[in-house]
Amino acid sequence: MVYYRTVMKKSLLFIPGPVPVAEPVLAAMSKPMIDHRGPAFAELLRGIVERLQPIFGTKSEIVTLGASGTGGLEAALVSTFSAGAKLLACPVGVFGQRFVSIARAYGCNVEVLETPLGNALDPGALASRLRADRDKAIKGVLLTHNETSTGVENNMSDLAEATREHGALTLVDSVSGMGASDFRMDDWGFDLVVSASQKVFAAPPGLAMIALSRRAWDAIERAEIPSFYFDLRKAREFASLGQTPWTPPISILFALDVALARYHAEGAKHVWHRHALYARAIRAAFAALGMRIFSAPGAHSNTVVAARIPAGISAEALLKTMREDRGVILSGGQLELKGKIVRMGTMGDVSQTDVLGAIGALEIALLENDVEVQIGSAVQAALRTFIKPDDEQNMDGQTGVRTTAASS
Ligand code: PLP
Repeated sequence: MVYYRTVMKKSLLFIPGPVPVAEPVLAAMSKPMIDHRGPAFAELLRGIVERLQPIFGTKSEIVTLGASGTGGLEAALVSTFSAGAKLLACPVGVFGQRFVSIARAYGCNVEVLETPLGNALDPGALASRLRADRDKAIKGVLLTHNETSTGVENNMSDLAEATREHGALTLVDSVSGMGASDFRMDDWGFDLVVSASQKVFAAPPGLAMIALSRRAWDAIERAEIPSFYFDLRKAREFASLGQTPWTPPISILFALDVALARYHAEGAKHVWHRHALYARAIRAAFAALGMRIFSAPGAHSNTVVAARIPAGISAEALLKTMREDRGVILSGGQLELKGKIVRMGTMGDVSQTDVLGAIGALEIALLENDVEVQIGSAVQAALRTFIKPDDEQNMDGQTGVRTTAASS
């Protein structure tokens, strides 16, 4: 068989962050610099925080840092605890493990509550471990909202419930989850919630954001891990002046400002629906190709779909064919999942047509590598999801909501 490859190439970025950024957001980065100690910057920062708060589900302060998501997690940890603090970490994949590594690097005494890869954290297991801690030795619980390495989303409402009685501080990595589903930091009672610009917010990388509860600020006043750049006390002091302690990534803030305006113009519920719909379409397409979804039923992420590589092809060959011959960039597995899974993101300035195109490209890439594929099966599965949205996944159960603002 001959597979025709066009000379004209367009690249479709389908990795789970950084994600495709819409043109008006990119264009905002070409604006001239402003004084980061002046009124225009204060106004910019205020607008960004005000638009982030409803997405985080909080009325609390949100501080921004010139850093990637990892910097946000590090800042949250070093600012909140003292060396030797006992923490209970609940990783469900690579990024949860990174949270453990950061805490250990600063001398915290971290106990790990293990979860098999592909599963969500069991709220019952968390609750019973915390109940067993009668003398309240555990000072903090480290949670991941959405685990990008396995395509798993934890049920944050249930996890909040599981931690409530114990009263330890709760730190949440929501780098790849925030904005893609309903999140209620205040109602659920989380203390520090970290996200980053380059995922659901669909802005370029470079900005971390941390929302902090009153309890978090109280702990920060007592914390003793030495820090400088990442000392959130300084961030708070300067935030009250409409500034950041250090020179901020002004261009990224310009971009995020526009990205957040677009988020709210689309409407949070539409944004959640869009991510859920794309994720369902991709899962249906993968399943049609015999690619087993890696996340357990009930634990699927809306922002990234992970699936086993089909028989008869290596992950490397599949990713290479997709990238070089078809212009579609997917991610592979990380650490022990390297070579075993492929991951496809749903975030960013991505249309339904892009999703369908990428799925079609996947079919051709598999065929090119002699993997048996029923031509059109995956595209059809994705298309069916777009044509007939599942009523349960439909917004508020409304009828007639058939398309999303980002659909094409
Ligand atoms: N946590 C999660 C869940 C992530 O997905 C990522 C990045 O993909 C990070 C943390 C680290 O963020 P960054 O790469 O921006 O440092």
